[in-house]
Amino acid sequence: MNTAVKTWPDLRGRFGPYGGRYVPETLVAPLEELEQAYAKARADDSFARELDQLLRNFAGRPTPLQFASRLTEHLGGPRIYIKREDLLHTGAHKINNCLGQALLAKRMGKRRIIAETGAGQHGVATAAVAARFGMECVVYMGTEDMERQRLNVSRMKLMGAEVVGVNAGSRTLKDAINEAMRDWATNVRTTHYLLGSVLGAHPYPQMVRDFHKVIGKEARRQILQAEGGLPDLLVACVGGGSNAIGLFHAFLEDSAVKMLGVEAGGRGHQLGEHAARLAEAMGFTGSRPGVLQGTYTYVLQTEDGQIATTHSVSAGLDYPAVGPEHALLAEQHRAEYSAASDAAAIDAARTLARVEGIIPALESAHALAALIARAPRMRREEMVIFNLSGRGDKDMEIIARYL
Ligand SMILES: *Cc1c(COP(=O)(O)O)cnc(C)c1O
Repeated sequence: MNTAVKTWPDLRGRFGPYGGRYVPETLVAPLEELEQAYAKARADDSFARELDQLLRNFAGRPTPLQFASRLTEHLGGPRIYIKREDLLHTGAHKINNCLGQALLAKRMGKRRIIAETGAGQHGVATAAVAARFGMECVVYMGTEDMERQRLNVSRMKLMGAEVVGVNAGSRTLKDAINEAMRDWATNVRTTHYLLGSVLGAHPYPQMVRDFHKVIGKEARRQILQAEGGLPDLLVACVGGGSNAIGLFHAFLEDSAVKMLGVEAGGRGHQLGEHAARLAEAMGFTGSRPGVLQGTYTYVLQTEDGQIATTHSVSAGLDYPAVGPEHALLAEQHRAEYSAASDAAAIDAARTLARVEGIIPALESAHALAALIARAPRMRREEMVIFNLSGRGDKDMEIIARYL
């Protein structure tokens, strides 16, 4: 048996050279406590059973794997299947991870959940789960983002969360993360930090991945049932990388299944104009290994190592670092990474809306844009699974402005 892929991360939380735990001393003990609690929960069948019930009855799993007959015909290439994570409660895959971590927090006896959010999607999913578990919830959010995402701020508040504006730095996601880490270090006895993607210090990249593996497990079973064979290609967008690794993981040992992760190409190739950290082959500049917010991975940075500003039309892809496991998969050439521009993503969103009657989140529209670009080079008998990570209601103002 080929166990090479299954052993990541190693005992120090590393995916090859990437990952690990680069944190101030105050966070070492909390991370160790979390690592041990997670290891215990993972070995406990009753944890898996309880989580499965929540995923079914609260979140709406399993999600369909829909054959997109009209999109397939429209593109004239491979047979396209859509994994419908957009149909989940709160509108995206994020609820998978939120439920897993909240259940773990409950087992650890924590009564208070904190989170950080950029666009507000992770904040909304966290607020929903905290309400469901009867836990106190505090969400840190840059004041710039609060202004841009007022509706999500209202949603969180309606579900009982306290939203704390962060006025430091660029007043966006990375400043909110710093604030959440400070809160956690101070209140760790009562508090769980519910991190929203496969980022941060060990054990987060592993744990968040594991809670999203259900996407690929279902998709693998569903396509075998529908087609009697495995897909040729998986396509997913990569912000931190949680929906992508969630789909990819169940297929890692199927060497004939290719994987494409799609980052934000923004509005240009220069540093500051995009959020492409791994799509080097497409000519994007400014990404090299470094440490950001607890993990060693590819980071967009200036020549002297300052974290770069990023741009994307889609807030969920607009982050200067990428999950460490993706850095390894890129290095191993097990997955390929490309990028789609703002304009291509908007175009792809319009195509899916018109052809299939589904409005995608702009994050997911990046993955579709890359698929649209590739489809003409694929054969008709090939099969693709496109991960529709979320629905587009939240992005309607932005889409309408472009049209
Ligand atoms: C947050 C978000 C993303 C980006 O996060 P990943 O960790 O890369 O999955 C992608 N799609 C949607 C719909 C999101 O809400």
